[in-house]
Formats: sequence, structure tokens, C-alpha cells
Amino acid sequence: MAIVSSQDEGGRNPLLKPQATPQDTPVLPEDSLRPRSLEEYLGQTELKQILSIAVGAAKVRGEPLDHLLLYGPPGLGKTTLALILAQEMGRQCHITSGPSLERPRDIVGLLVNLEPGDILFVDEIHRLPRVTEETLYAAMEDFRLDVTVGKGTTARTRSLTLPKFTLVGATTRVGALSSPLRDRFGLVQKLRFYTVAELAQIITRTAQLLNMQITALGAETIAQRSRGTPRIANRLLKRVRDYAQIQNVEIITPELAGTALELLAVDPQGLDGVDRTLLTVLIEQFQGGPAGLDTLAAMTGEDPQTIEDVYEPYLMQIGYLQRTPRGRMALPPAWVHLGRTPPAQQLPLL
Ligand code: ADP
Repeated sequence: MAIVSSQDEGGRNPLLKPQATPQDTPVLPEDSLRPRSLEEYLGQTELKQILSIAVGAAKVRGEPLDHLLLYGPPGLGKTTLALILAQEMGRQCHITSGPSLERPRDIVGLLVNLEPGDILFVDEIHRLPRVTEETLYAAMEDFRLDVTVGKGTTARTRSLTLPKFTLVGATTRVGALSSPLRDRFGLVQKLRFYTVAELAQIITRTAQLLNMQITALGAETIAQRSRGTPRIANRLLKRVRDYAQIQNVEIITPELAGTALELLAVDPQGLDGVDRTLLTVLIEQFQGGPAGLDTLAAMTGEDPQTIEDVYEPYLMQIGYLQRTPRGRMALPPAWVHLGRTPPAQQLPLL
């Protein structure tokens, strides 16, 4: 059997990482799976309505879209939305990220090359260096760029006029943005986790693009384990396809998907090693909690920010974890999932 468990030494399963990994791209570029229009973009219904009104109004006025800030955990479709908005507006989307704009001249280079109405997508915008962020203020507000020419006593500040563009910022930590930057976005919108039904639709669409056959229940089996995240759903589908090919099976049924995902050590609720360790620590060391974020970080060897931005949102979404003023608590379904009996005082919550 060519398929081996993908659990690595730390008990982490790379298949369940919401961030993009190099494996997501080589065989079939992730791009080929991206929806190309708001209509094709599944789920996020309210957000789509808001954006579709914004696009319609901007087109009527013949103006670019307002600057837009998208926030939410990785893999939920922020980059995809920026590309779709450019497509809907009939303009180009230029993609960059906060950490790669180290020097002010990096952002200047991008800004001066924009055409009117273009979208500049800045991923991880909370990681923009301070000077770059300050350069953006005038660019966003007045479509103006102040650049210093020359050095020392001969240095002068020159003002350049920029084409009217749209900045689409994406972040997993909206709270980490400075208020001057946040205030310059006309629209600030949250992406939420997808329901199992929405993920099943995404999986069915991807299966069609990959020329595979999958039953409705087969798609649901994969959706259930995808942590509410389309990127993970597509990745799991590709691994199930590998298994189906090895087995010479043409149609993906729930039984086949279940067996393949079990072989790949994918938990029935999509929990990975870090989620399990977090919950186990809470249950075993703190009788379910409360325990502070820093204590949990130290005991699991994870960065507190990653726990807060990537792991906790999903655990809260499925009702396994609660953030309280006194710390984090593991809720009864988490105890049950880990094969334990919740303490009597927690049972009424079930
Ligand atoms: P983010 O920028 O939030 O990390 P991406 O936009 O890169 O996420 O999306 C990851 C992958 O998930 C994309 O390749 C795309 O195929 C898929 N995807 C995301 N959102 C949707 C959606 N609403 N419908 C269908 N596929 C989606």
C-alpha cells in the first residue's frame, strides 16, 4: 500500500493545516481550482451580497471599489475574493504580502505601476513594517505618494499622483492592525468558517474540475473533516483521489473516503495533533480548565498567536472550547471526542 499515515513526529497532520503548503500547488495549481466569479464562489452569502452591491455601485459611478479589509482564519478564500473582485471590475489584481514589503521602495514600486481601478492585494497586512504602512496612508486616502529624492542636505520630498486603485488587505488578526490603517478601509468584512453543506458543494465542484466522480455522501464525509476550510477540503479530496486511483475505484463513496481519510490519520472532526494536545492538556492537567493562553502555549510548545488565530477559532466553532475571562475551557463534546467522561458539573451544558 503506497499510502502511509501523514501524521508527523509532533503528531501534527500537514493535511489539516489551513495555510497553503508547497504540496497544494505542483500537480494542479491551486489557481485552477479557484472560483472565477462571485457566482461561482460558494458560501459566505452575506459577504457576497455586500460585495456584489459594492461592485455594482462602483461600476455605475465609474469609480474603483472602496478599499476593503478581509479578515478571518487562513484558507477561507480571501485571496480568491480579491482575484474575483478584480475580474468583476475588469481590472488587474496585483498580489503581495506584508512581510515582503520590507523597504518603503518595495511598496512604491508596486503603487507606481498600478493602472486606474487595479486591485492591490496585501496578504498578512498586519505584518506591514511601520514605514511602509505610513507610506500607504496618503496613497489610500489621497492617491498620493510622497517620495524623498536625493540625500542629506539636498534631499527633497516630491509628491506623485497615483491612479485611483483599490487596496484589499487580508489578515488573520484584525486586532493587530493600527487604527489609522484600519480606519482607511471603507469596508471591513469577516470571513466565517464554511458549513459542512457548503464544503460539500465546494468538494463536488472541485471533483468536477478534476474529472472525478463523487457521491453526495462521499463529499459530505470529506467536508466533515475539513475544519470549515475550503483549502483543507480540496487538499483532502486530492488525497482521497490518490487512494481511489490506487484501488482502481471510479466513484468516491463515503466508505471509500472514510477508509482513505482514516489511513491518512485524519480525525473524524478534522482535529489535528495540536488541537488534540491543547484539549488533552486542558482536560488532563486542568480538569477541563480554565487555563491561560500563555500556559497552554508553554505546555503545547505552540506560539500563543497561532493558538489564538488558527486553532481556537475552529475549536470554538465546533463547540469544543470556550474562551472565558478566567481562561480557556474544554467543553463536554471535547471530552467525549477524546474518549473521556466530562465532569458532572459540566454535564448540564451537553
Ligand atoms: P486565503 O487567502 O483566505 O488563505 P484562498 O483564497 O487562497 O484563502 O483559498 C484557498 C483555496 O480554497 C483556493 O484555492 C480555492 O480553490 C478554495 N476556495 C476558497 N474559498 C472558496 C469558495 N468560497 N468557493 C470555492 N472554493 C474556494
